[in-house]
Amino acid sequence: RFISPALKSFEELEFERDLRPLSFNEYIGQKQVKENLQIFVRAALMRQEALDHVLLYGPPGLGKTTLAYIIARELGVNIKITSGPAIERPGDLAAILTNLGERDLLFIDEIHRLHPSIEEILYPAMEDFALDIMIGKGPSARSMRINLSPFTLVGATTKAGQLTSPLRDRFGVNLRLEFYDKEDLVNILMRTAKILNVNIETQAAERIAVCSRGTPRIANRLLKRIRDYAQVKADGVITSAVAEEGLRLLDIDLHGLDQNDRRLLLTIIDKFNGGPAGIDSIAAALNEETSTIEDIYEPYLIQQGYIFRTSRGRMVSDMAYEHLGRAKPQK
Ligand code: ADP
Repeated sequence: RFISPALKSFEELEFERDLRPLSFNEYIGQKQVKENLQIFVRAALMRQEALDHVLLYGPPGLGKTTLAYIIARELGVNIKITSGPAIERPGDLAAILTNLGERDLLFIDEIHRLHPSIEEILYPAMEDFALDIMIGKGPSARSMRINLSPFTLVGATTKAGQLTSPLRDRFGVNLRLEFYDKEDLVNILMRTAKILNVNIETQAAERIAVCSRGTPRIANRLLKRIRDYAQVKADGVITSAVAEEGLRLLDIDLHGLDQNDRRLLLTIIDKFNGGPAGIDSIAAALNEETSTIEDIYEPYLIQQGYIFRTSRGRMVSDMAYEHLGRAKPQK
């Protein structure tokens, strides 16, 4: 899926690594999040203490991992990267924690997917920098405490609501990333174009920005594909005509909606009379996972006002009817 902000191939991982901003100054947009973090980082450096644990939440592709790298770099500490589903056994997490150096940063992506038994290990680790280990079994079992170096946990999640409250409460800093506006996306595209050594006109960047669903990952991905098109068809320069044609070939419409978005809206309109319809019924009608719709398609459509979430299910807005050229049914 082209528009899906989730990561796929190894090639894309490498592409993203090359584009990752390395400092707060290079990190475009998210002004408030950045200002807060800069102050906390500076204060931690002045006190020569580990930075408080940080929870970053927001849809995929908005720059959570990038921020974790930047924080580590600005603190001058090592970073260890893992994710909720990758930590399978309590011992895996214990091994990671005992290997962290003084004030190092541990980044756990998709932290809402940690197994409860593993999450419990995190509580004393976050609070007291300690690991409680059970030795032996049955009546002779006893608990032993191992001290850890003070460290900073940066957790990222797309679903803050799914975090248990004991875990959420242990983060001193809680920051929400927002979708990027057009101006920030244009700046991100211009920066990426420079790194990739592609020539792009500002108007073309504006055109691509509008179709990027407020998401840097998608903006960069579109630029990469349109660059290929420009190279083959237009002497390598991305003009607005080239951007326009490239977007058309990728089947992305004027408002940045792709085939899957339109299919989702049309399903609610045609099969559920515009809604309200339960998310599970919509997912079944589309033959998609509920979580794919909730995490990938829906957030942007809701933010843009194409879909409403009501207590009785999802409804499309008048704007969706208009955009798709459909008449609104009389109810
Ligand atoms: P997340 O962890 O939220 O899924 P990432 O941090 O992996 O997102 O960001 C995806 C890509 O988008 C990265 O390669 C990075 O280059 C780019 N990116 C994200 N945020 C910014 C930003 N504020 N400025 C410039 N590039 C960004």
